[in-house]
Amino acid sequence: MKLLHEKINNQGQVRDGDILKVDSFLNHQLDVAFLNEVGKEFKQRFNNEKITKIVTIEASGIAIACIAAQYFDVPVVFAKKTDSRNLDADTYSSNVHSYTKDLDYAVKISKRYLNDDDHVLIIDDFLANGQAALGLVDLAKQAGASVSGVGIVIEKGFQPGGQLLRDHGIHLESLAVIKSLKNNEIEFATN
Ligand code: 5GP
Repeated sequence: MKLLHEKINNQGQVRDGDILKVDSFLNHQLDVAFLNEVGKEFKQRFNNEKITKIVTIEASGIAIACIAAQYFDVPVVFAKKTDSRNLDADTYSSNVHSYTKDLDYAVKISKRYLNDDDHVLIIDDFLANGQAALGLVDLAKQAGASVSGVGIVIEKGFQPGGQLLRDHGIHLESLAVIKSLKNNEIEFATN
């Protein structure tokens, strides 16, 4: 996606540990006009899939998923990372290892909001080792829902998440794939 490549080139910053910081437009300050284009692009790429729900993970995925959902005309369900009294007791739960925070946490979705009629599109901002996405796939499977695809804004192609999802037979669409962040330089894979 050309516009996304431009935004990453102009605003992306490489941080230690192969982290790409894009919080001026994607996951802190939000460029809503740009996110609209992201939503349209996901709609185009998953147009042939049956989708009844978009599933994401708090917090960074929520804005992207909500904007995309307007083009699919389906609800968004976001997995919660923290327990709260507001969360139903009856949940699907899966353990995820966080790449950016280097810790394990449980992701949970109430059993009321995912069921075996659902065809789920999983959306997230980044794909690195694939643990967040696989946690969401696991929640969908526990519910008996089918996974229609995974839509990612930025895949770090030098980490194993993309291959892992493809090995699971999942329809993965990444709007930008980064080949390398070595020497503080952002190199894209040609996609
Ligand atoms: P994974 O589970 O695929 O290893 O990591 C995905 C999650 O880690 C994403 O939800 C994202 O929040 C975070 N993440 C992974 N790599 C990066 C990165 O380079 N930059 C930012 N901003 N977040 C990242």
